[in-house]
Amino acid sequence: MSTLENKVCIVTGAASGIGKAIATRYAEDGAKVVIADLKIDAARKAAEEINAKTKGEAMAVEMDVTDEDMVNAGVQKVAATWGRIDVLVSNAGVQIVHKVEDFPFAEWKKLLAIHLDGAFLTSKAVIPHMKRQGGGAILFMGSVHSKEASALKAPYVTAKHGLLGLARVIAKEGGEHGIRTNVICPGFVKTPLVEKQIPEQAQDLGISEDEVISKVMLGETVDTEFTTVEDIAAVAHFFAAFPSNALTGQSLVASHGWYMN
Ligand code: NAD
Repeated sequence: MSTLENKVCIVTGAASGIGKAIATRYAEDGAKVVIADLKIDAARKAAEEINAKTKGEAMAVEMDVTDEDMVNAGVQKVAATWGRIDVLVSNAGVQIVHKVEDFPFAEWKKLLAIHLDGAFLTSKAVIPHMKRQGGGAILFMGSVHSKEASALKAPYVTAKHGLLGLARVIAKEGGEHGIRTNVICPGFVKTPLVEKQIPEQAQDLGISEDEVISKVMLGETVDTEFTTVEDIAAVAHFFAAFPSNALTGQSLVASHGWYMN
């Protein structure tokens, strides 16, 4: 297994949660990581922490992944600073829960834009750099909801299923250039994105917050355990460091056994 030493890795949504853990894991391996996030103050703080505690380097870049100009400017800045782009983790995401008949159209479009436009625009921006260098790794943050549906999550389930298709297309187009594209599909991980859903789902479903956790979120795991940010960072390291096209166009579920395929 290769290491990520000196590899330049852009992680979107890395000011918080899973993305921050991935950026930290990569920097522990000696990578140069870009904390690309809408929340620039939190991104700077995450970069400072990573610079202080790892042997890698971190840089914060303000980026709204739905804004083509901001994505292109951010990727250009990385290429100008560090000369190359080896890994993209398109991870930025939000969750919004309502029944379909109550879902505001604007919120449906916003969620699809963050997850799908974000993955498309960031991939589009990094691919020319990866082609020039002769390869690279692109990872999309999918979900068990790339394979399975849950009530109240229409645009999220739609977007996460869509990422599988986009990853497979980029894997086919990227093959001859050594650009590998894979999708990580976590089960529930206790991050701010999930903490927010617990009271919202309790209210929407008319059950207690404990029941949301034990039945809705973890009811189909083998051990009623949350997946951790470190678990997902380990999978993200494996995919990013994998040295050949043997592993491309795939998706891996890491979820304590929720959804087996
Ligand atoms: P989080 O809320 O902790 O972090 C998400 C980050 O994305 C935040 O820093 C936020 O500022 C950033 N962000 C949001 N919109 C953005 C935009 N337009 N441009 C740039 N950055 C933006 O959430 P998390 O749980 O770490 O989620 C990260 C990814 O993992 C998401 O794609 C989510 O769907 C996916 N995921 C999470 C879980 C889970 O249980 N937490 C499970 C499966 C998949």
